[in-house]
Parts: sequence; structure tokens; C-alpha cells
Amino acid sequence: MELVDPRTFLLVANLLGMLCALVLWVQARSFPDDIAGLRDWALAVVLIGCASGLASFRGVLHDGIAIVLASGMLLFGQLLLIIGLQRFSGRQPVWRPTVDLIGAVLLLIVWLTFGAYNYPARIFIMALAHVGLFAYGALLAWRVTPAGFGSRFLTVVFLLGVAVAAWRLATLSLATGAADAVFDRNLIQQIYLGMFSLGVLGLSIGFILLANERLRVELEFMATRDPMTGAFNRRAFFSQAAVEWARRARSDRPLAVITADIDFFKKVNDKYGHHTGDLVIKDFARRAAQLLRLPDILARFGGEEFVILLPDTGLAEAASVAERIRKEIEARPDKKLPRYTVSLGVAVTQGKAGQPADIEALIAVADAALYRAKQGGRNRVVA
Ligand code: GH3
Ligand code: MG
Ligand code: MG
Repeated sequence: MELVDPRTFLLVANLLGMLCALVLWVQARSFPDDIAGLRDWALAVVLIGCASGLASFRGVLHDGIAIVLASGMLLFGQLLLIIGLQRFSGRQPVWRPTVDLIGAVLLLIVWLTFGAYNYPARIFIMALAHVGLFAYGALLAWRVTPAGFGSRFLTVVFLLGVAVAAWRLATLSLATGAADAVFDRNLIQQIYLGMFSLGVLGLSIGFILLANERLRVELEFMATRDPMTGAFNRRAFFSQAAVEWARRARSDRPLAVITADIDFFKKVNDKYGHHTGDLVIKDFARRAAQLLRLPDILARFGGEEFVILLPDTGLAEAASVAERIRKEIEARPDKKLPRYTVSLGVAVTQGKAGQPADIEALIAVADAALYRAKQGGRNRVVA
């Protein structure tokens, strides 16, 4: 006895799928353009839903529709899932050779339906194609960024798809030998279609999660970074600095701050133009960041003024970091940019009395050192 009528089950699963397609479509319209692939996924879910709907009416509808058209829609829907993931990963979508392969599969399906009718061979080819496409989808989903819950969820659902298609391959050989083969075949095929629709539902939920995670990462980046250099902005600096300050107070470990200001920057702007000035600022941020450790925080405080926070760093070490930055900038490896130099001030605090009261006071000490570096002739470090 059946618990649920397979067609009712399919209908419900596909309706839910359509709802997800709607959500994906709305997201595609409202999300930033670089979160791509959502439209492909919306279309894929609709295609696959319609396909499994059509396929469930085999025997009622003409075979050209219930078998050939449904198979085509199913495969192209799966291809669109892959195309969407490729676009989401920022890659150019690769249609070939998969389109050719799907074309070949469809020709075979036509032949096995209207030429030499062979039901098991048809199912075999389709299930094989599903295994391949789902496995490729799993690989893409695993590699996608951010590698959070959405990515892992998608990977698991894709792998379940592989398992179900493989199960279909396995049951195929069993069903053909059974006495009531026709009934078994139909039931198993209905279950297969149901799992397919349920799987696509899972996939679209996974993709919605993934797109939301990407959006969150992007918004977080925008909220904490200076758009020109990618360095942290003032607000992010102070929120991170507050954490480090509290940690320092408890642990008696040192905390260092370096302030940096490009020398004679007005001259760079005057001589080479504002655009080159911008390139110099970006160049400084990029090269300074390369010399820092992971916990260090580089922030752009103003035009060509940067502040670096170095947790667990004493005076000698911080001064040597500053000196490395000064030397690196002076070396001018990028010959397309004008020669420029930087002056740096270093200040360190370590939980004793008489030390700066807060992070602003520590920055003021570093700024005073920077001022002395400018007074002393620029292109130097004062600690
Ligand atoms: P000093 O060696 O004393 O630091 O001399 P300076 O010329 O660098 O003096 P100052 O720091 O006062 O000059 C900063 C200049 O940077 C002033 C401003 O026009 C320019 N500036 C500020 N923000 C930007 C920016 O985003 N891009 C460009 N190209 N220039 C900027
Ligand atoms: Mg300045
Ligand atoms: Mg300057």
C-alpha cells in the first residue's frame, strides 16, 4: 500500500521547487550583479520541475513529450545548475562539451523510444548522465566560495543525487528480471522522479543559502574596508583595536601601533596627476600589507595616511617591521610608478602605569614620532 500517491508527492515537491525558483529569481534581481548564476538556477529548477511532471504522465501523454522532451528538459536543467555554479564562482560558463553530450544522449533516447524500443537501456543512459552531471555539480559546489554551510549543503545534496542515480542503475538490472516488471519499473521510476524533485528542492535551498552567505561576506567587506585600497577603514580598525586593547590589558603582552604617511604626496599629485596619486596609495597599501602578519591590521585613516596595529609586538620588533616597510617602498619594484618614500612613527604599550590611557592616546604617541620623522628629513622610522 502506498503511503502517498506518487503523483501527488511529485506535484507538492515541484510546487515547492517553483516557490524556490521564485525566491532565486527575486534574489537575482535584488542582489549585486557579481553574485551571478541565480537566474540559471531559477530556470533550472523550473525546467527540472516541469520535466519530472511531464515524465510522470508517461503513457498518458505522447512519448515524444513524456519521454524525449522531459529527458531533454531534465538534462538541460542539470546543465543550467552547473552553468549557474560556474557563473557564481566568477568563471566563464562552459557550455560545450556538455551540450554536445546531452545532444548525443537525446538522440539515443529518441532511437530507444521510436526506433528500437528499449526501456532499460533508456533509463540506463539517463541515470548515467545524471551521475556524471551531479558528480560535476558536487565538485563545483565543494570548491565555491565562501566555503561555508551553503557550499557543504549543496555538495551533500549533489552527492545524494549521485547516489540516487547510481541506485537507479542498480535497481534497473533487478527490475528487468522480475515477473511483474512493468509495475516495478513504474513504481521505481516514480520514486526516482520524486527523489529527483526533492533533490532539486534541496539544491535550490542550498543555492539560496550560498547566495546569502556570499552577500553577507560582501556587505561585511564593504562595511569594514576602504574601497580604494582594500585596507580596513577607521571604524573597523577601532573595533578590532578595542578587542586587542582589552586582551593586552589582561595578558601584559605588548601592543604596537605604526603610523605611516607618504612623503611629499602633494608633489606626486601635482607632478603626475591625481590618478597616479591614487595608484601610489594603492601600491603602498598592497606592499605594506604583504609585509604584515595575519593578526596585524592595516587601516587607511586618510588620504595617504595609514595606521597599523600589531598585537603581541614589542618596540624593537615593531620598529623593524616599520623599517622593512620603509625599505620596501624605497626600493620601488614597480617602475611604472614614480619614486616615493614614506615616514613612519612607532609606539608600543605594555600594561604598566603611566602608559597611554587608550588606543587613541597610543596613536597620538606614534603620530608624534611620525612628526619627528618628517622633521628629521622624511623617509625614516622614529620609534
Ligand atoms: P608630507 O611629506 O609632509 O607628508 O607632505 P605631503 O605632501 O604628503 O603633505 P600632506 O600629507 O599634507 O598631503 C596630503 C595630500 O594628499 C593632500 C591631498 O590633496 C592628497 N590626497 C588626499 N587624499 C587623496 C586621495 O585619495 N588620492 C590622491 N591622489 N590624493 C589625495
Ligand atoms: Mg598626510
Ligand atoms: Mg604626506
